[in-house]
Amino acid sequence: MRLRTRLGAGVAGALNGVSRRLGLGRGTVLGGRAGMAIAPGALAELAAGRLVALVSGTNGKTTTTALLAAALEVGGRRVVTNSTGSNMPAGHFAALAQGAGGTPVVLEVDEGYLPGSVETLEPKVVVLLNLSRDQLDRSNEVRMVAGRWRRALAGSRATVVANADDPLVVYGAELAGSLLWVAGGARWRADAAGCPACGGRIEYSVDSWSCRCGFTRPRPEVSAVEEAGTTTAVFADGRRLPVTLAIPGAFNRRNALMAMAAAGALGVPAEVALAAMGRIEGVAGRFSLRRVQGVLTRVLLAKNPAGWEELLDVVAPGTGPVVVAINARIADGRDPSWLWDVPFERLAGRPVVATGERSADVSVRLHYAGVEHQRVGDPAQAVVLAGRLGAAGADGEAVEFIGNYTAFHDLLRVGA
Ligand SMILES: [Zn+2]
Repeated sequence: MRLRTRLGAGVAGALNGVSRRLGLGRGTVLGGRAGMAIAPGALAELAAGRLVALVSGTNGKTTTTALLAAALEVGGRRVVTNSTGSNMPAGHFAALAQGAGGTPVVLEVDEGYLPGSVETLEPKVVVLLNLSRDQLDRSNEVRMVAGRWRRALAGSRATVVANADDPLVVYGAELAGSLLWVAGGARWRADAAGCPACGGRIEYSVDSWSCRCGFTRPRPEVSAVEEAGTTTAVFADGRRLPVTLAIPGAFNRRNALMAMAAAGALGVPAEVALAAMGRIEGVAGRFSLRRVQGVLTRVLLAKNPAGWEELLDVVAPGTGPVVVAINARIADGRDPSWLWDVPFERLAGRPVVATGERSADVSVRLHYAGVEHQRVGDPAQAVVLAGRLGAAGADGEAVEFIGNYTAFHDLLRVGA
């Protein structure tokens, strides 16, 4: 390894440590940026010869990255990952600077950065979860992202583990030399109504999709079968394995199926991978139960209509109070008009509190959804109020707090 690369990696590690000690956050971006400034081109060198797995998609990448890392940590093997969610090159640099040269690396990758990361890091496996609208003010149109994935993966030697249920993912993946299709589910279809291949209309049936141009759902190697709140992995050869996780939600069990397939491509048996993933109890604060001003609260993150649709499935069986927290800072996307695509109607009849810097937008949306609610600007105070409203029902359920990106992280800080 070049001296400059070693120096860059050392500086990244040192800066991250200082940043942590000063309480400035985990500092992965700061250290990574400094390291890359010292040693441009070092990313490729740090990744060379290592087992690299990349995870991308609009929703679920942080969780799937954690699940895959857990599955690869078999037999006490150390795995390096960007668990703080710093999913662009500076964060990748900071992660790659850790661990000895031979340590496997599992990286979450921002959708827009995936083509560059595939070229630079030469991954063994790439996991593609889904593509939908996110951050309306600054993201490319999703079909354009799928087209860029397609060009990047056509020349890659990676095994691509791709969600056969999402037409945009299939379009992005299908030219890869080594493909493993997984029926990973696609609850949200509104962003894939048009065919990415011809611009025609995709026809959906219960468990498949196709277009008149011949672009159609590939046959999956493994599918998620959901019955009565449980998920079973069903393999093409008929083998069946239960997918049991400590974290909630059918979408997480489908993410686990994708991670299981990726781990399999890297030599970890499905049973071993599933057992390891089942022990994960929370991912970077997501799904965690904690006390916020004394009120038991489950903290959930949803940042776009597709993510909300999935999380509403998780909270829908309950009757307890729900806090909807929305900000519109740069990290959230400045344009909150996507709130009109979220089916908030499903919250009608339960205690709901709107909060966050855009609580007024949430309130108008809830009003038109026919959801009675109260509005409190401060998220912690909103949880306290929701706790009181919930106590009236005397069911003792935790408050469900669902926030978008910065609203979620703000609450983790007060509820630590
Ligand atoms: Zn078509």
